[in-house]
Amino acid sequence: MFSCVGYAATAADARLGPIKLDRRDPGPDDVQIDILYCGVCHSDLHQARNEWQNTIFPCVPGHEIVGRVAKVGASVTRFHAGDLVGVGCMVDSCRECPSCREGFEQYCEVGFVPTYNGEERQGGGITFGGYSRAVVVDQAFVLKVPEKLGPAAVAPLLCAGITTYSPLRHWKVGPGQRVGIVGLGGLGHMGVKFARAFGAEVVLFTTSASKVADGLRLGAHEVVLSKDAGAMAKERGRFDFILDAVAANHDINAYLDLLKRDGTLVQVGAPETPLPVSVFSLLMKRRNFSGSLIGGIPETQEMLDFCGEHDITADIEMIRMDQIEDAYARMLRSDVKYRFVIDMATMPESV
Ligand SMILES: [Zn+2]
Ligand SMILES: [Zn+2]
Repeated sequence: MFSCVGYAATAADARLGPIKLDRRDPGPDDVQIDILYCGVCHSDLHQARNEWQNTIFPCVPGHEIVGRVAKVGASVTRFHAGDLVGVGCMVDSCRECPSCREGFEQYCEVGFVPTYNGEERQGGGITFGGYSRAVVVDQAFVLKVPEKLGPAAVAPLLCAGITTYSPLRHWKVGPGQRVGIVGLGGLGHMGVKFARAFGAEVVLFTTSASKVADGLRLGAHEVVLSKDAGAMAKERGRFDFILDAVAANHDINAYLDLLKRDGTLVQVGAPETPLPVSVFSLLMKRRNFSGSLIGGIPETQEMLDFCGEHDITADIEMIRMDQIEDAYARMLRSDVKYRFVIDMATMPESV
């Protein structure tokens, strides 16, 4: 074991602060990574505050990790010291079930091992995430990051990026399709960029007039204010696909009605309470309502390579480690364009 400094919540009502944490020494299949940047996902806040009632304290959040390989185990051939790499929401899975065998580790039948607040399969205890100077991860869950991309702006691709890329790919969004993205936050802004890069006609739906110009800048062809009943009515029955990235409770039927016959709405934002779905809206036009969770390791690598080819990264605001509580407060007000990323060089050297 070796120890390094991380930033942890020690209780649901405690402010995050530095702690000394133990990492396992790299085994034959492990990659030890010096973390450069870590994105701040809304899940980090939910978990730090125990809002999902399953947090194991101390909790070190962070699952949008970019860093450089420090050293590798004896069996590791794909990675070398100095390589720029990423780690997303998963650090292991059973690797034997049908989902794992097909590269859909996020749907592992026994459950994947989350990057933090999970149980290590190596028997080493609870996983600690990317708010930390270093992490040790099995090579099967380490991703290659294109060197040409700015590494800080790559970090959010590991959760927000793949969460939007995967459903757009699975439902084959492309040229000739009219595609809606609902909500312009961490997820939504990546959804707009990807849908545009895939050649679709992209319409952003937002509640706030202040985001119209940004939506267009990020790649939307049109922006519709969802509070404008007249504008919404004009869009009825016009969409092939809608990606809904809103995590707050909202009227899902207003968006289902915008789909054409056989159109699909995929929910990636996760409201805490069930959404009432109008079955009539579904059956009158054979519409589909689905959900999607991050993406598997092969697809996450495909996404990073695609981003390298098309020069796509997240729009970020860099923060110091000690600004995390302020960042959480701003995130709750949707006051971020469009993802906070922690500069890990600002992590204290010692506790
Ligand atoms: Zn996340
Ligand atoms: Zn599995």
